[in-house]
Amino acid sequence: MEAVKRKGSCSCGQLSIRAEGEPVKISACHCRECQRRTGSAFGVAVFFDREKVAASGASNSYKRLGDSGRSIEFRFCLACGSTVYWMPEFRKDLVAVALGCLEEPSSMVPTQSVYEESRLRWVGFDLPGRD
Ligand SMILES: [Zn+2]
Ligand SMILES: [Zn+2]
Repeated sequence: MEAVKRKGSCSCGQLSIRAEGEPVKISACHCRECQRRTGSAFGVAVFFDREKVAASGASNSYKRLGDSGRSIEFRFCLACGSTVYWMPEFRKDLVAVALGCLEEPSSMVPTQSVYEESRLRWVGFDLPGRD
């Protein structure tokens, strides 16, 4: 059987990404930094094994410290500014890809929802295994 391949890109299409295999986890994050970064109510990170992800196109990076005190490096398109993927220092084996940049985002459902304390109260969704 051929391995699953997923493709994605930024808003303008200049920065693209490919990931092979199934996501390790899919995390909906309601933290204020994800709200600012996306300009939206929450961010969704689709984590893949790092060696199975390849990006192409011009990008720049922005680093910030996570709560753990360790950094996260966000890569964004030089032309349109979309954050396409990021690399948490605390999980060097994983790359997070922005759900909204991937093709067929409806095929992926978050496996966890984090930073619920800053979740906007009108945001509600059902996760598998949650009542
Ligand atoms: Zn772009
Ligand atoms: Zn977040």
